[in-house]
Amino acid sequence: MVSSIPNARIQAITFPPPPSSPETLSGPAPEIARMNLNEAPGAPSPLVLGAIADALTDINRYPDHDCTALAGIISGRTGVPVDRLSFGNGSGEILVALAMMAINEGDDAIMPSPTFPTCAKGVQIAGGNIINVPLRSDGSNDVDAMLAAMTSRTRLFYLCTPNNPTGGILSQQALIKAATQVPQNCLLVVDEAYFEFAQVEGGPDVLSVLAKRPGPWVVTRSFSKAYCLAGLRVGYSMSSDAEINAGLWRLRPNFNIGRVSLAAAAAAMQDDAYLNETLRNTIAERQQLAAQLSRLDFEEFPSFANFLTVRCPAKARTLHKALAQRNIQVVPLAWPDEQGSLRITVDTPENNARLVEALEEILDAL
Ligand SMILES: *Cc1c(COP(=O)(O)O)cnc(C)c1O
Repeated sequence: MVSSIPNARIQAITFPPPPSSPETLSGPAPEIARMNLNEAPGAPSPLVLGAIADALTDINRYPDHDCTALAGIISGRTGVPVDRLSFGNGSGEILVALAMMAINEGDDAIMPSPTFPTCAKGVQIAGGNIINVPLRSDGSNDVDAMLAAMTSRTRLFYLCTPNNPTGGILSQQALIKAATQVPQNCLLVVDEAYFEFAQVEGGPDVLSVLAKRPGPWVVTRSFSKAYCLAGLRVGYSMSSDAEINAGLWRLRPNFNIGRVSLAAAAAAMQDDAYLNETLRNTIAERQQLAAQLSRLDFEEFPSFANFLTVRCPAKARTLHKALAQRNIQVVPLAWPDEQGSLRITVDTPENNARLVEALEEILDAL
């Protein structure tokens, strides 16, 4: 049959949309435990809520496309000059754009597997080939195997630390190896959506390693996780040079971050006390959840993020289904083996306890 989509590459895109979660105008259904999207379970800082209220008076005006205030704050924090920063409606938008920038038709992109799929979607849009390289057994990216999988047409090398969906981080040495051995004709991308969590748990210092790389690189970060702003869609990137950054700006849709979102993100970055409290609470809750699950014979993979991936004492798909019937949403993975594992977002103490109780009942009944 002739497709009504004229562009063959767009016809061929295989990446599914995010899981559907229909809502009424009153918001997310309170009876559903959303432990499948790695959202923060609580509200953002009161400072953020105040900034949002203030921004509402000007919503008849388009937002500042240059993101001047937010760029200034990020530049001050990271030391990366403003002409090397870009902004997306979520960091996912930037991941798609940078693949479109790096890849010509027929080029190769090296990806860990499993990982966050959005950069690979950009590779498909650009007509490139995705080379999937299995993770190490601890759930971190296998840099040696990824380097060994490089071809003469590799133009994109994607790393994710902490890796979604497993939570593992890169060692400083592995990162240095990637930064020095990925050739200069290949864009090295490091997705740091969970940067703030990894930073307080001994993760690699990605920016300072990449600063020494001779070739091009881009680091992406998000306000959706540690800053509790998933619903407002803000992400940013830092690039090796102004030229790469200008490429991202050419692809950026006009006014892609709303005025309210910009104000919220800027305020969130100025409330370190709240961020630190979020990190502390999430990590403590994650450790508690891991301990409870190990009592039920689940085995945790080392996680440095706001979620936990566990090997299951029964088939992950079976557990996922039984949890869904009880309005508890988690993600089943076909990794590391046939039994699979579950990715569980750390939620409120109440929902975490509800999950443990449900799993106990489900396992008892099997
Ligand atoms: C959540 C996530 C993102 C994207 O988040 P945005 O909401 O688009 O900023 C990117 N990468 C990874 C690994 C993620 O888990």
